[in-house]
Amino acid sequence: MIEAKSVSKSYGAGRFAKPVIAECSFVAPRHKCTVIVGPSGAGKSTMIRLIAGFEKPSRGEILTDGKAVTGPGRDRLVMFQESALFPWMTTEQNIVYGPLARHERKADTVSRAKFLLEKTGLMAAKRRYPAQLSGGMQRRAELARSLINDPEIMILDEPFRGLDAMTKKLMLEYYVKLSEETPRTNLFVTTDIDEAILLADRLIVMSAAPMRVRAVIDVDLPRPRELHTLLRDDAANALKLEALSLLHEEAMKAFAGGSRAAGDFIEAYRKRLAAV
Ligand code: ADP
Ligand code: MG
Repeated sequence: MIEAKSVSKSYGAGRFAKPVIAECSFVAPRHKCTVIVGPSGAGKSTMIRLIAGFEKPSRGEILTDGKAVTGPGRDRLVMFQESALFPWMTTEQNIVYGPLARHERKADTVSRAKFLLEKTGLMAAKRRYPAQLSGGMQRRAELARSLINDPEIMILDEPFRGLDAMTKKLMLEYYVKLSEETPRTNLFVTTDIDEAILLADRLIVMSAAPMRVRAVIDVDLPRPRELHTLLRDDAANALKLEALSLLHEEAMKAFAGGSRAAGDFIEAYRKRLAAV
């Protein structure tokens, strides 16, 4: 379980201090998938860096399984949007890198890698280098490289952004299947509401920067879930609308940066929504 307790983060000091996260509190329950949605530039990646232990909050604290996070740890694995594959290593070498660097048993590692290569459909590509893989294959290789470490907590920051729509959809469905197979505490960041509803047990809607929690929405839709059935599911669509109206409001605030005209626009939008 991950707990953020009144977490604030500012960059810079004194007069130049820029608040990015303001008093953010939430819980990501154990063995559930918690999805953070928020407008871009809200401070989501900053929050992920705090949870990963790469940076420290200015105020407040973060706990994993009741213990304060003081730095990076093996229990937490972060997969970012940017590729972290080593370009000079083959797919297989990339996947076994972590365990071998920790001097884990080679035979064991190789058999786990084989299992994951099969799971991710990369067996035929195991001797290829990242540059010789498609975008979707690179993401799968990266997923395999994370999963071989069998982390208790898996943190994914917009991992499928930049993929074409079809590949992204396949990757998502694949990821859902994987997480339904192996219980793990998942924290997933996205700006895409369809993606969020598909994955989430709990949805945390964030405000524009400085980031606060706007709403916590429990998504108790039955599993297994599929994107195309969710599109026609009334309960799913109701949740989506609820989250979207908040997100849209926040996105417009972020977009407008507080101008009067934008404020009026948001007000009009809110009235239109209320009338629906
Ligand atoms: P998101 O992931 O929600 O799109 P980020 O967490 O990347 O947002 O960024 C939120 C805000 O924090 C941005 O305005 C960004 O410029 C600012 N920011 C992030 N890191 C730093 C830093 N190291 N120094 C100063 N400002 C930063
Ligand atoms: Mg980000």
